[in-house]
Amino acid sequence: MTTNTPDAAFLASIKTPQQDFDTAAIRQLDSAHFLHPFTDHGSLAEKGARVMVRGEGIYLWDSEGHKILDGMSGLWCVNVGYGRTSISQAVYRQMETLPFYNSFFNTTNVPAVTLAAQLAQLAPAPFKHVFFTSSGSEANDTNVRLVRRYWDLLGHPERHTIIGRVNGYHGSTMAGASLGGMAGMHAQGGLPIPGIVHIGQPNYAEAPKGMTEAEFGIVAAGWLEQKILELGPDKVAAFIGEPVQGAGGVIIPPPTYWPEIQRICDKYDVLLIADEVITGFGRLGTWFGSELMQIQPDLITFAKGVTSGYVPLGGVLVGSRVAHVLIEKGGEFNHGFTYSGHPVACAAALENLRIIQDEQLVNAVAVDTGPYLKQKFASLSDHPLVGHADSLGFVAGLNLVRKKAEHLHDCVPFDQALHVGMICRGYMFANGIIMRAVGDRMIVAPPLVMTQAQVDEMVDRIRQSLDDTLADLI
Ligand code: PLP
Repeated sequence: MTTNTPDAAFLASIKTPQQDFDTAAIRQLDSAHFLHPFTDHGSLAEKGARVMVRGEGIYLWDSEGHKILDGMSGLWCVNVGYGRTSISQAVYRQMETLPFYNSFFNTTNVPAVTLAAQLAQLAPAPFKHVFFTSSGSEANDTNVRLVRRYWDLLGHPERHTIIGRVNGYHGSTMAGASLGGMAGMHAQGGLPIPGIVHIGQPNYAEAPKGMTEAEFGIVAAGWLEQKILELGPDKVAAFIGEPVQGAGGVIIPPPTYWPEIQRICDKYDVLLIADEVITGFGRLGTWFGSELMQIQPDLITFAKGVTSGYVPLGGVLVGSRVAHVLIEKGGEFNHGFTYSGHPVACAAALENLRIIQDEQLVNAVAVDTGPYLKQKFASLSDHPLVGHADSLGFVAGLNLVRKKAEHLHDCVPFDQALHVGMICRGYMFANGIIMRAVGDRMIVAPPLVMTQAQVDEMVDRIRQSLDDTLADLI
C-alpha cells in the first residue's frame, strides 16, 4: 500500500537523534572500507574521521556530541540549512508516486518539466532550456560535449579548444578536472585531456605591486585575448570560469574583469560558460553570479544549491544561441545520463527553490546578512595573523600572514611547509566551527539562512581560533 503523506509518528522517530554511537567502531569500518574523495588515507587512518550524524539549521552534530557551526554549508551547498522537513516530505511523496523513470526516448516526468521551466524563469535571460545531470562535474562534461557539438553543427569542427583558468575548479571527472586548473589534480592521471588549455587567474594578491585592482582586472582578462590569438580564434570553442573562484580559495575578481572577458568573447565569437555550481541560487546575493558580474553567458553550469545538497542534482542552463542550433540542426544529441531529470531530485529542487523564494534568502544576502558579514569579516583584519579579509555576498576569505602590512602586496607569507592554514583549521574545529583552509587562506560560505546574530557567533569563533593559532606559533 502506498501513501502520499508520511505519518507524523514516523517523521518524529526519524528526527530523533540517535544517542549512542560507537565512534571507534565506525572509524575502524570507515578506515577499512571507505575510500574517501580528496583524502590522504594514511593521515585518515591515524587520526580517524569525524563522524557527522545530524544537522539542524546552520549547525551539525558529530557522533561524540559536539555541536559545530557549519561555516561551509556542507560543501558550498546547504543553502537553506539542515533539517528542512518540507524537502524530506517532497522527496518522500515523489518516491511514493514515481521514484524513477528516465528521460530518454521521448519520455519525461512532471517534476523535471516543472523544474526546467522554473529554472528558465530564474536564469538571466535568454535561457529557456535545461540539460539535467546529477553533479557539477557531469554538467561540465556536458558543456564540453555541447560546445563542440555546436561548432560541429555550424560547420566548424576545428573550433574545438576550451580555455579554462589556473586554480579554477570545475569538478573531478576527466573533463571536469581538465577544465579546472588545479595543479594537484593535473599531476595525477595525465590531465588535462587534449583540447583544454588554461590562462592565469584574476587573483589581485598576485598582481604586480603598484597596479590598481581595476587595472589588474583588465590585464588578467587580457590573458584570454592573448591565448585566443595564440591558438587562432578559429580554433577556440569556449571559455569557462567561475564568477568567483570557490575551491581555489574564494578569489573575488576585480570588478573590471568579467565585463572585459565578455567583450573579448563577443569579439572573437567564443562561447562563454559561467560555472555557477557555487555562485548559483543566491550565494552572492543574486540568483546567479552572472547577474552581479554583468555578463550574459551562453551556458551556465549549476548543481549544489539547486537542491541545497539534499539530493544530488546538477545541470546546464543552455542559452538560446546554443539551444537553437542544437534543436533546429542537431538531430539526436548522443549524450545523457540514467539520472538526467531524476524525478526525486527535481522534486527536492522544487521545494528548495520555493523555500529560497518564500523566505527571500537571496534578498537577505544582498541587503542584510551579506553586507553584515562583509563588515564583521573586515573587522578581523586587525588580528595580527590576518593580512587581508574580504567577502562578497555569502563567501568570504582571509589570508594568514607572518608579517602584516598596510597593503596586501607587502604582507610576508608563512613558509608553506609550516601548514599554518591546517593548524588554524584544527583550532576552528576545536572551537566548534567549520572553516576550510586553501593553503594559508581560510574561507567560509555559510548557509544563506544564517542570521546577523549567527554571523556574530561565527566571527567570534573565528577570532578565538586565530588567537589559538597565534599562541601555537609563538
Ligand atoms: N564546479 C564548481 C565551481 C564547483 O565548485 C564544483 C564542486 O565543488 C564542481 C563544479 C563539481 O561539482 P560536483 O562535485 O557536484 O561534481
